[in-house]
Amino acid sequence: MADLSTPLGQVVGKPTASPLAKYRNLHTVGDLLDFVPRRYFEPGKLTDLSSLVEGEDVTVVARVDRATTRPMRQRKGRMLNVIITDGVHELDLTFFSAYGHEARLVPGALGLFSGVVGRYQHTWQLTHPDYELFPPEREDAAVEEHMGRLKPIYLPAGKPMPSWKVAKVVQIVLASLDEVPDHLPPDVRTRRRLVDLMSMYRLLHQPSTDKDVSRARYRRKYDEAFTVQTVLAQRRVAGEGLQTKPRLPIAGGLREAFDARLPFELTAGQDEVSAEIAKDLANEHPMHRLLQGEVGSGKTVVALRAMLSVIDSGGQTALLAPTEVLASQHFRSITSMLGDLAEGGMLGGSEIGTRVTLLTGSQPAGIRRKSLLDAASGDAGIVIGTHALIQEHVQFFDLGLVVIDEQHRFGVEQRDALRSKGKQSPHVLVMTATPIPRTVAMTVFGDMETSTLTELPKGRSPIATHVVSNPRWFQRTWERVAEEVRAGHQAYVVCPRIGDSEVSSEPGSVGTKGDWSDEDVEVIFDEDEDVSAQPSTRELRSVLEMETELRDNPALAGLRIATLHGRMASEDKDAAMLSFAAGTIDILVATTVIEVGVDVANATVMVIMDADRFGISQLHQLRGRVGRGTSTGLCLLVTETESEAVQQRLISVAATNDGFTLARLDLEHRREGDVLGARQSGGKSQLRLLRLLRDEDLILQAREDAFAIVTADPGLEQHPDLRKVIDSALDEEQAAYLERG
Ligand code: ADP
Ligand code: MG
Repeated sequence: MADLSTPLGQVVGKPTASPLAKYRNLHTVGDLLDFVPRRYFEPGKLTDLSSLVEGEDVTVVARVDRATTRPMRQRKGRMLNVIITDGVHELDLTFFSAYGHEARLVPGALGLFSGVVGRYQHTWQLTHPDYELFPPEREDAAVEEHMGRLKPIYLPAGKPMPSWKVAKVVQIVLASLDEVPDHLPPDVRTRRRLVDLMSMYRLLHQPSTDKDVSRARYRRKYDEAFTVQTVLAQRRVAGEGLQTKPRLPIAGGLREAFDARLPFELTAGQDEVSAEIAKDLANEHPMHRLLQGEVGSGKTVVALRAMLSVIDSGGQTALLAPTEVLASQHFRSITSMLGDLAEGGMLGGSEIGTRVTLLTGSQPAGIRRKSLLDAASGDAGIVIGTHALIQEHVQFFDLGLVVIDEQHRFGVEQRDALRSKGKQSPHVLVMTATPIPRTVAMTVFGDMETSTLTELPKGRSPIATHVVSNPRWFQRTWERVAEEVRAGHQAYVVCPRIGDSEVSSEPGSVGTKGDWSDEDVEVIFDEDEDVSAQPSTRELRSVLEMETELRDNPALAGLRIATLHGRMASEDKDAAMLSFAAGTIDILVATTVIEVGVDVANATVMVIMDADRFGISQLHQLRGRVGRGTSTGLCLLVTETESEAVQQRLISVAATNDGFTLARLDLEHRREGDVLGARQSGGKSQLRLLRLLRDEDLILQAREDAFAIVTADPGLEQHPDLRKVIDSALDEEQAAYLERG
């Protein structure tokens, strides 16, 4: 008898098992049983062919009515056309090679046909369907077998194995399966009215009624949520078990001096969140907190105040940014905000002052060595950097707090690597500007406490966004930019490509190919899948072409234009950013590298070219760059898309400035695996049925159950079967992470 870990080949034979392994990554009995049918189909005696829907994957029971062959025009060979029928309606089957099919698909033959339904003029068609004919002598029995049961449909259709063949393999596997241990404690099953694991598999793959299907799917969804929450609960408990130095605020320190100089008043939200953080920092267990807040809500100030408290109490702090541009910018703005407070130990510096150090991968060796020394000696109270900071050889004297900016670019493993830098685990504050719906936060950051900044500082003017889809208005766009510049402001022009030799978007990812990154592995809300998947016959706008085009545009004559993209040398990127910040450049033509955190208050207009190529939340992030100052920001979404759906999406972005609304909208357009990033989508642990927006109640229940179990039994000693499931989910995650490098 088999169990869930038995290799499939042992049960169904190598020839059957190997395509499943090769194409679907299904290696064990458990893998196959976790391969959830996409839909179910209810065959009658003969299938009612009038109920077909274009684009759907179907399996029908029908009879061959007639078959014809004809030579093909373009190439050798004959094409076979078969008409099948339910007695009333007809369905056309097309085979581009008659060979092998012609002799079998003869009038009168009865069988199962499966494929994707297409429509050609007025006829329904299946092209190259898979089929299985019933032996004439036992037609009745065969039809009987297929009746009364729902047929599971496994996608994708056809290749490498038709759905009905997968169903057959599953049938064999289920028959040879021992009773499987259920990892879910019985009391949880009872309380939540969940079917046991074995029943779930049976009902999932061989249901009789719709009710069977929904009970099985419900249990399956619960499991998905429960596994994730158990892992998170364990992480939370492990975090609580760590010891760290409490960092208590000190009177007359840096923090107070800084507050006294702040040119503005903190918002109520900033005050509140600061208090929460201060309380965490005073704890002897490390803080692990997520700070979310709209673009421009003032997270950085909150973080900086926390950092200064920690420095006051003798510790060091690290600020981790996803790109070099952002790290350099943080370095500049923090240094200037601190003024002489950042000149600790230097002539003319403040007595209580500290030192701020920048550490990035592309620094010249000498400077880098100095930065490393400052970090190791403890002279630098604030070390700002990209992921270079988490490299092994970076040492801190006493790291008390790690702040991670724009979390969605970092994986959980990177967070962990940084946490391990301190002699004792440092406190960790993660900031994200992408608003996260509750259940997503609970799933992706469910091991952390969260704080939210809901209001923007006073005096901000909202950003006006317009979709420009009519080519007649394109020139007007540039005139508008010129007006803005003449009024003393600056403009961004964002393009989806760089435009040198690359094929599509820019390469590189955090943690792998250098720390400059426009496109990342760990993206939560970026790139709307539907949009980017659209084949584009048109060349997308590129930074380099756009630069030339704008220089030649009479409306922009005399304006100072520069570019910024991922493949420029580090110094050039810095130089471009500095000149733009200093106001000596009027128009910055850039890739999405400016997406996060870039803060030039005088920039008031942003033109996004081929806006249809960006995801909803990404557009929202981008336009946040022109909402930084007190002058009204303007964002123009230029698109040449013909698709109404895509235009509609852009219109929704233009219609609201509420990041939470947009985040939900964005989420509705994507698969959960993309939402979670590589963290949970790596392997079998991925969420298949769970929908983070729709299954809120279930997620809350699973979270409650998981946290109760783990709190009482952190090592899951009383729950060996559950522990096995969790360990293997973690292995998958680890493997996926390693694979990504
Ligand atoms: P975030 O990181 O949340 O996008 P920042 O912290 O970069 O936002 O703040 C955006 C801008 O608003 C910065 O120039 C900052 O100095 C300014 N700012 C922060 N808090 C306030 C406040 N309470 N009142 C006025 N301006 C503020
Ligand atoms: Mg920021």
